[in-house]
Amino acid sequence: MAKPISHIVRRPGRVAGEPDVEVPVAADLATTPGIPLREVDVSFYSRVAPLESQNVEKGADRDWVWSVYDDDVAEYIRGHDERMKPFVDTALASGGVEPSGAPDGGDDLTEDIRRAALELGFGEVGFTRFDRRYVYESKRGWVKFPHAVCLALEQDYDQTQSLPSLEAEHAHYGTYEIESEMADRLAEFIRSRGYHAQLHSPRDPSAAVIPMFVAAGLGQLGANGQLLSPHFGSRARLMMISTDAPVRYDGPVDYGVHAFCQKCLVCVDRCPGRALVRDKVWWRGVEKNKLIYDRCRPVMAKYEGCGVCMKVCPIQKFGMPAVMMHYVETGEVLGKGSEELEGYALHDKGYFGPGQLPHFERSFFDFPHGRREDWLFEQFKERLANDDVPAEGELAEFAQNVKSAMEKSRTTRDE
Ligand code: SF4
Ligand code: SF4
Repeated sequence: MAKPISHIVRRPGRVAGEPDVEVPVAADLATTPGIPLREVDVSFYSRVAPLESQNVEKGADRDWVWSVYDDDVAEYIRGHDERMKPFVDTALASGGVEPSGAPDGGDDLTEDIRRAALELGFGEVGFTRFDRRYVYESKRGWVKFPHAVCLALEQDYDQTQSLPSLEAEHAHYGTYEIESEMADRLAEFIRSRGYHAQLHSPRDPSAAVIPMFVAAGLGQLGANGQLLSPHFGSRARLMMISTDAPVRYDGPVDYGVHAFCQKCLVCVDRCPGRALVRDKVWWRGVEKNKLIYDRCRPVMAKYEGCGVCMKVCPIQKFGMPAVMMHYVETGEVLGKGSEELEGYALHDKGYFGPGQLPHFERSFFDFPHGRREDWLFEQFKERLANDDVPAEGELAEFAQNVKSAMEKSRTTRDE
């Protein structure tokens, strides 16, 4: 028997001109718009333990991954970094670029910007306050403007279903390259209307952006740690522009995802690294399924960015309207238990169907932790603990290495 419906969410069609879509939310999935949040805790943590970019905070493993990548992956990512360089440089300087036009009387630009973004090809566009509580510590002086334009570009469907693979990495990184150029053009549009536009490059991130996408109603956080948007789930790459243009904010939406994930848990069960957890915890003021980074990182490095948690998500594969309608009609998770949804292959371990997971030696999960300089000190301490006292010349070399590591840690770019 069909389940009672709490509410129906209406969203614009996938591309401009397509009819609206409807997402029925079953009564037993209705929780709260966006995500359960304790504002006071979010503010407290942002003050006493501000977020920091992984490129800084996890610098030691950012360097280490290059020793693990297969040759073809390393070559592709090096090429991507080269192609992204101009966009990262443009983004870095974008907050200081003056408007090219004059404002026409303080008009609300929300719909003009939304239309321009959709015409450029973005699949999801939303507006919210640029919430400085999510800004990385090293970027606090860089972020300039009060409003966030949240933009999502869908990555190729077929390539995504081949995760984990180099082909899927082309979809992942290639989408960043395409959307960087699109966002640059949208920023120019905003400037032509008389206002500033600062680009936040995904390759040099300034903040944890998913909370702002959720606040703008573009989806909800999945148990896989990704934004699940109505049309393409997590099969999207996120981009943000902040601006002082007058815009109206969108609001958070309850798509039913917060409760649905607890019934689904396919990504949790299928994660090769056992990095995803079944139960939600309160983390920095937000109730969520918290990913265990140390279990994920080695798998990502060894297996082409992994992304099994994206591939096996029914909302990614079938779209939110179909998945939520199926749940209303049957009480079941569309595709759960099927080879089509849950199967995947790891290049040196073979194929794993529903209920099967790869095995890794304990040592597979040993990798450098923390900032680059912290990791050097950790190794140094280990030597001392083993009575391996360095000679004077080695100490000078150590000091030089720490200095270089500290300089490198000042860069927030992903390269
Ligand atoms: S990327 Fe792979 S290892 Fe990491 S959480 Fe997703 S499925 Fe697990
Ligand atoms: S696979 Fe299931 S539990 Fe995981 S994010 Fe997708 S809907 Fe949520």
